[in-house]
Amino acid sequence: MDSVTQLQLNIPDTTKPRVVVIGGGFGGANAIKYLNDQLIQIILFDKSNYNSFWPLLYQVATAGLQPDSIATPLRREFSNKKDFHFRALEVRQIDIDNKHIITDVGSLRYDYVVIATGSKSNFFGNELIQKYSFGLKSIPDALNFRSQLMQAFERADMTQDPVERRRLLNFVIVGGGPTGVETSGAIAELRKHVLCKDYPHLDLSQMKIYLLEGNERVLATMSVHAGTKAKEYLEKLGVIVKTSTYVDKYDGTTVHLKSGEQIESYCVVWSAGVTGNMLEGMKAEWIERGHYLVDANCRIIGSADIYAIGDIATQKSEKWPTGLPGQAQPAIQMGKFVGKYLNAVGLMSFRSKLLVFTNWIWNYFTYDKGNRLIIRPFVRPEEND
Ligand SMILES: Cc1cc2nc3c(=O)[nH]c(=O)nc-3n(C[C@H](O)[C@H](O)[C@H](O)COP(=O)(O)OP(=O)(O)OC[C@H]3O[C@@H](n4cnc5c(N)ncnc54)[C@H](O)[C@@H]3O)c2cc1C
Repeated sequence: MDSVTQLQLNIPDTTKPRVVVIGGGFGGANAIKYLNDQLIQIILFDKSNYNSFWPLLYQVATAGLQPDSIATPLRREFSNKKDFHFRALEVRQIDIDNKHIITDVGSLRYDYVVIATGSKSNFFGNELIQKYSFGLKSIPDALNFRSQLMQAFERADMTQDPVERRRLLNFVIVGGGPTGVETSGAIAELRKHVLCKDYPHLDLSQMKIYLLEGNERVLATMSVHAGTKAKEYLEKLGVIVKTSTYVDKYDGTTVHLKSGEQIESYCVVWSAGVTGNMLEGMKAEWIERGHYLVDANCRIIGSADIYAIGDIATQKSEKWPTGLPGQAQPAIQMGKFVGKYLNAVGLMSFRSKLLVFTNWIWNYFTYDKGNRLIIRPFVRPEEND
């Protein structure tokens, strides 16, 4: 493969406004869907060449679905747009003074940027937890977890050591939000329907699935009813749900809880918090707790030409004083809005160019030169000046 130094962005010059969308997930993809490539040159940078349906990622992690069932190639999704240019690369920085996006492959001038880089797991600075636990934020994360899950049963079927078997058969999911609830439920379903057939000689009653949540209830961002029902459902499936429970540390073999309790496990999923995928070069006052603060038009407050949408953005309103929830629908709606909004910018630019052009044609044929304006009065110098 070429080294990045030999690569170039190869994006054609344009006279249209250029909008660069960074991230082609729920937000970015919807922005592009609504952007009009006749008015605007559309650029998409994403480090992956696909976008994923994250709500089903836990199914990939627990061997229920293949990765390609939840992923769509970004180029295919926008193949109907002629002035659309996708490049699979990671954006590192925005040079806001010179209006350039900086990537490993080169830099690109922009007129407008839409940041839609989403979020990543937040380990709250705990390096050991980050090193040894599994995040569930990407397809590679899910495949790593799936391999660990399957390897654990293969090894448990072979070991003679009861402590080792316990570590292999204990699964700990930290964070009782939707991802934690779905993942722990899916592992329990796997035990009930699949593992009992695949491992008839393994005593699966030794397998324990823990769901640990710091709040008083699971699904804390949803209704009390939803949280209660989810807990009942999980417990019926044999998941051990522990609320008001905090993890202190994890060293790869033992989870230490703040209460002093310890759980032996090789397999810990961390779904206890997220933070935005930030880019370098942005002003500190644009950022609040790992998110860009945006106005009602999704423009970063204080910036003239940079927009942020989806999980990376905090859009406060009377109804949502701390911002919209980090979920698919807000990202989709913000993407749609920004796409339509920036079309209006492209239309204005197109209109002004059209106006200049028609004025020129009109003046050319009518000899009606518009240059009779006195822009700066001429003062004749006195003879002796
Ligand atoms: C496992 C899981 C389950 C979920 N379940 C639900 C659910 O059931 N219901 C619900 O409403 N929401 C759910 N969500 C949340 C929902 O998926 C997000 O709120 C939504 O994806 C946010 O959209 P986004 O466009 O902001 O970011 P994303 O969809 O995450 O897209 C971000 C994109 O940016 C790209 N990117 C990031 N950094 C860079 C960079 N520096 N350079 C180039 N590209 C970059 C990434 O590759 C990615 O394609 C779930 C999320 C996860 C992870």
